[in-house]
Amino acid sequence: MTMVIGLTGGIGSGKTTVANLFADYHIDIIDADIVAREVVAPGSAGLKAIEDKLGSDILLTDGNLDRSKLRAAIFSDNTLKDWLNGLLHPMIREKMQADIQQATSPYCLLVVPLMVENNLQAMTDRLLVVDVDEQTQIARTTQRDGVDAEQVKSILAAQASRQERLDAADDIINNNNDGAQLSSQVATLHQQYLAMCQQQPS
Ligand code: ATP
Repeated sequence: MTMVIGLTGGIGSGKTTVANLFADYHIDIIDADIVAREVVAPGSAGLKAIEDKLGSDILLTDGNLDRSKLRAAIFSDNTLKDWLNGLLHPMIREKMQADIQQATSPYCLLVVPLMVENNLQAMTDRLLVVDVDEQTQIARTTQRDGVDAEQVKSILAAQASRQERLDAADDIINNNNDGAQLSSQVATLHQQYLAMCQQQPS
């Protein structure tokens, strides 16, 4: 089976930027954020279960899930939040596993922002962490999303710490510097991963 490289990092660390660099080498990317949308797409079992639980008011007029309404509903209701996580997390894991089976590149990348928090490293053969210092992380996220630093700090506080992620890492990309340094780190890792999958029993 295809070797699975897990890719994670805190908010605004550069996961998408790094994943795009691997995609330039034609590596298949499985992105948990995209999968999380697919399992509640119109016509899905996930959306049907949510509609059965919360009524059709939870849908937009075009049939898509009204995410902001759902966010508001779970914000003040932990039981509902647990129910939703219990419903969707297994669906997301199954879909990611199915997508891994479909991968055709020598190895694939499984991008999961909350990999360490949700202990999903078990789905991967190696864990690659994109590491940045907090100041850079806050500066890039505020600039990208047009939000204030306090908002980013509160998200940071709810995520695994930088050290917890580094402790779980097999490989680390340092993204404190410019894009050129990022590209050369990805180029080196790509060669290492190719060599590793050639050594793997097929
Ligand atoms: P999130 O978890 O919030 O989805 P992410 O980890 O996917 O974020 P990116 O969106 O890739 O992070 O990067 C965050 C922002 O920082 C983007 O605007 C991106 O263009 C910028 N960025 C990433 N790496 C660098 C770099 N080396 N130099 C300058 N800007 C960068």
